[in-house]
Amino acid sequence: MAEKILEVEDLNKFYGNKQVLHDISFSLNKGDVLTLLGPSGSGKSTLLRCLNGLEEFKSGTIIFEGKKVIPTAKNWQQLRQKIGMVFQSYDLFPNMTVLENILLGPVKVQKRPKAEVEKEAKALLKRVHLEQYANSYPRQLSGGQKQRIAIIRALALHPDLMLFDEVTASLDPEMVRGVLELIKQLSDEDHMTMIIVTHEMNFAKQIADQVLFLENGTIVEDTPGKEFFEHPKTKRAEEFLESME
Ligand code: ADP
Ligand code: MG
Repeated sequence: MAEKILEVEDLNKFYGNKQVLHDISFSLNKGDVLTLLGPSGSGKSTLLRCLNGLEEFKSGTIIFEGKKVIPTAKNWQQLRQKIGMVFQSYDLFPNMTVLENILLGPVKVQKRPKAEVEKEAKALLKRVHLEQYANSYPRQLSGGQKQRIAIIRALALHPDLMLFDEVTASLDPEMVRGVLELIKQLSDEDHMTMIIVTHEMNFAKQIADQVLFLENGTIVEDTPGKEFFEHPKTKRAEEFLESME
C-alpha cells in the first residue's frame, strides 16, 4: 500500500449561507500528482485554500502525514511550512529583491542559518536559469520569471506537498512552457507530491496520477489520471474534456 500524505473526509465549506464544498472526501498518495479539474466556480480554489488553512471550513477532517489537523491559526502557520502554495497572481514582495524574497521564509520563519539558505537559494535560482536575477526586483522580471521564482521560493521551505492554483493562467503563451516544465521536473526528478489546478489539459494528461473532477462543489469523479482522460466515467467529465479541446 502506498503511503498516504493527505486524507480529506467530508469537508463542507460555506460562504455565508451558500455551500460551496459538499462532503469532499479523497486521499492522496505520497509522491503522486493530483490534478483538480472542473468548470470555473466549481470550488477548486476554495478547496486548495482549505487545505492550506487560508479558509475556514464548517465541518470535515483533514489528515496530513497521518495526523489530524486541529485547525488553529498556530497549527496552520506551522503546516504552511510543509504545504506550499503558489497562486495565479505572482505574490512576490515588490520591495524585496528576488533573493530576499526566497530567503524570507526559511530564515525569518524557519530560523535556518542564512548562509546555508542563501547557498540553497542560489542553487534553486540556477536550476530555473535565473541566477543572474538574484539582486533584481520583481518588477524587473517577466510574468513567467516571477512565477518560477514564486515556485522556488515555496520550495526553499522544503515542503512535503505543493499546491498550484492556475499558476500559468495569467501568463503570456510563450511563458507558459517554462513554468510547466519546472512543475513536471518537480514531479519526475524530485518526486514532489502536488495538487494542481490547471486549464492546460495536455499538461494535466501528462502529469496526473489522479484526477478529481469537481462540479458545483461536489466531487463528480476521482479517477486515475490516464483513465480519466481516456475513459471518463461520467458524461459531465466527458463534456468538460470536450469543451477544453
Ligand atoms: P474555482 O476555483 O473552481 O473557479 P472557487 O473556489 O473560486 O471556484 O469558487 C467556488 C464558489 O465559491 C463560487 O460560487 C464562487 O463564486 C464562490 N466564492 C469564492 N470565493 C468567495 C468569497 N470570498 N466569498 C463568497 N463566495 C466566494
Ligand atoms: Mg479558481
